[in-house]
Formats: sequence, C-alpha cells, structure tokens
Amino acid sequence: MNVRLFKPSVGEEELQMIREAFERSWIGLGPNVSQFEAEWEKFTGCAQAVAVNSATAALHLALAVFRFPEGKKVLVPSLTFAATATAALYNRLQPVFVDSDPVTLGIDLEDLERKWDPDCVAVMPVHYAGHPVPMDELVPWARARGLKIVEDCAHTAGAIYKGKMLGLWGDIGCFSFEEKKLMTTGDGGMMVTNDPELFREVKAMRWVGIDKDNWKTAQSYVTANRDAMHWFYEIAVLGYKYNMNDLAAAVGLAQLKKLPAMNRRRSQIIRRYLNGLRRLPGVQPLLPFEPERYCYQMFGIRADRRDELMIHLKSLGIATGCHYTPLSLQPLFAPWGHNCPYIEEEHKRFITLPLHADLTDEEVDYVLEGIEAFCQAYVA
Ligand SMILES: *Cc1c(COP(=O)(O)O)cnc(C)c1O
Repeated sequence: MNVRLFKPSVGEEELQMIREAFERSWIGLGPNVSQFEAEWEKFTGCAQAVAVNSATAALHLALAVFRFPEGKKVLVPSLTFAATATAALYNRLQPVFVDSDPVTLGIDLEDLERKWDPDCVAVMPVHYAGHPVPMDELVPWARARGLKIVEDCAHTAGAIYKGKMLGLWGDIGCFSFEEKKLMTTGDGGMMVTNDPELFREVKAMRWVGIDKDNWKTAQSYVTANRDAMHWFYEIAVLGYKYNMNDLAAAVGLAQLKKLPAMNRRRSQIIRRYLNGLRRLPGVQPLLPFEPERYCYQMFGIRADRRDELMIHLKSLGIATGCHYTPLSLQPLFAPWGHNCPYIEEEHKRFITLPLHADLTDEEVDYVLEGIEAFCQAYVA
C-alpha cells in the first residue's frame, strides 16, 4: 500500500468550471475571481474578501497595508510555515519568535507577554494544524498594546471559535488554497476583513496598485459610452502582482461547494485515528484535537522514538512529515532565533500522519496497525 500524506480532492466539477472559463475566454483577473470572493464572504460571514495568488502574498499584503516604520517588530510563532515570518522581512520588519503552548502548540500567551516590547506593531497568530489560538484572550491583550492582528488561517477554513469565525477575530485573516490545504486552487489565497478602508487598499495593492477591476474596464470598452476615458486608471499606492486568476477561481468555486463535506470527512478520519491511538503506548496525539468542533488541515502524533517510527512507517509505504522545524532554528532567521526553548526541543517528537479528504478507513487502519506493530516491538 502507498498512503499519501496530503492529496487534493479534485474531479469533474473543477474541470467543468475550468471549461466554462475557457469558453468565456477570460482566464485572468475576472468574473470568477469576483464570484469566488462573494462566495467566500458568504461562507465566512466577513464583510469583504480579496482573492490573491497565495497565502504568502496575503500575509505580505496584510502587513504592508499598515505601512509600519522600517525595523519595527512583529510577534510570530516559531512553529509555523516560513511565510508567516517572511511576511515581516518582506516589509523590512523584524520577526520576534514566540514559543508554543505545550498543550495546543499555538502561540504561547505567557511567552508573548515576555517577548513584547514597545517596538512591536503586530502579532500574527497561527491556528496550528487548525486548532484555534484562544483569540478571546489574545485579542484584548493585543488591543491593549496597540498591536494590529493578522490571523494566519492557512490550516483552517470555516471553523467557529467561541461563536466567531476564525479569520475574523483580528484585523485581517489570511487563508491558503495551496494544494495541501483544506481546499485548493492549485495555488491561491484569500484575505478577509470587516474594515472597508483596509479592504479598498488591499484590493488595489493586489493588482499593481490599480483600484479598478480590469474586466469591468474591458466591458466598458464596448458598452455605449460617450466617455473616451474608459481606459483611465490611477496608481496611488505601491502594489504587487498578487491577484488570483479566473482559472484558479474556477477550481476554487467548485472546491468551496465541497468544502463542508471534505471537512466532515477529515473530522471522521481524525476521530478514527484518535480512537485507534488510545490503545497504543508510547505515542500521543499531537494536540487536543476536537474534530467535531474545528477543521484540521493536519493530524499528527508525538513519539519518543520518532525517527525509528518514521522509518518503520516509510518501509510500509506510509508517507509522514514533521511540521515544522521551528523557524527560530532556521539559518535565515538566525539573527532573531534560538529563543523558543520548548518547541525547539519538542518538535523532535512530532510526526505528521496522512490526512486528506480521500483517505479511506482502510488506509487509516493500515497506518494505525503500522504504529501498533512498532509500539509492540518497542515494548517487547
Ligand atoms: C501553507 C501555509 C502558508 C502559505 O500558504 P501559500 O498559499 O502556500 O502561500 C502560510 N502559513 C501557513 C501556516 C501555512 O501552512
């Protein structure tokens, strides 16, 4: 058997949407992108959504829009994908790495307090694996210090924490549609906000600073219009080429329809893993998963003999990973690193196990049996 770690779940529905975009012969920034944004607004309940070509771009823009003075500091968890912290570097800001909560692995609120100083301008909580950061505690803490809040929601999509959608607790929420995420557009991302001012700026910044939809402009070329200035636009802000295109949005529209069902399937799989793991000594679930309540992009365990177990699973055709090597250990971040003692040690016990919407019960049981065989050999 060959069990994949992550796998996008795509099929005829996505192909049909791409076909329609081809027939319209509009595949750049166009009507699909607008429709996808409108559907995402409905799905999350946010006032406004802006589609971009990755969550990395979203995180870059989310900090850029505030125009912080160069050299100011941004609080980011050490346990995250590089993009959370490179967003600070892209903006000539300094990342300040914060350790993980030992239980949830989210940004540790006590270390956050220790690391904060008056040069900090923003905090970027990551809902690691999909498990919520206690935003009801983090938000008032950050507001009291005048910090902007950018939520990295790359591992969640559609989960509600204490009555409010994750992504809407801070100033801007950033979602990822990279192929390993809860839903995909190949590559893509979405920014959500309830602040109309931020929305207008971000929308211009994702399209080279042009505050105008070019497919609407194109339509005005041919409508009866006595104004010869239909082509005119102004560039008032420094923008980037970060827009989503209509092919990606075509896939996104089909994926969004399937997202609730895909999330339910992921939850079932996690419940099956959790039930199976209860009888196994020597391994524990990575964090206190609540699959009936939240959406999880990753599932994993903590194991004492991590590397041996990984090699054993590999020999059975089971793909595994480790998410992540803490950023405070990465060479790029050395000037700001080596200051998160808990996670810099604990991540050595992490194994990410296969999780995707098409994973079968038989595959999950096969993974569990593989772990069980290892545990028995180890205990014997
Ligand atoms: C995947 C990921 C990103 C970046 O998303 P892209 O869409 O691939 O740019 C950012 N943060 C986290 C936590 C991620 O897992």
